[in-house]
Amino acid sequence: MPNQAAHVTVVSRPSRGRARVHVFLLAERCKGCAFCVEFCPKHVLVMSDRFNAKGYHIPQVVDESACTNCQLCQLLCPEFAVYVVTENGSKP
Ligand code: SF4
Ligand code: SF4
Repeated sequence: MPNQAAHVTVVSRPSRGRARVHVFLLAERCKGCAFCVEFCPKHVLVMSDRFNAKGYHIPQVVDESACTNCQLCQLLCPEFAVYVVTENGSKP
């Protein structure tokens, strides 16, 4: 569905006491640069084999539990296409 944002729920490791984190991907903004994939320190994302309506490859989350909510992906994304939100609004 080309105009629908992909939504992935990421749950942190309970043993570390982190808040639940949601990672949002606005697929139609994505230009497929892969910055969020290459620079994620925990390898949470990979490039998928899916295209958005503009013909760009979009990423997908493959290791949800590894996310540390460092927010690097949203800081680096030049299209503001990926961002993370904690359920309680806390910062890392
Ligand atoms: S918040 Fe950090 S650990 Fe989580 S997906 Fe983004 S870059 Fe990776
Ligand atoms: S950094 Fe942004 S534009 Fe680049 S692949 Fe990730 S979501 Fe798409």
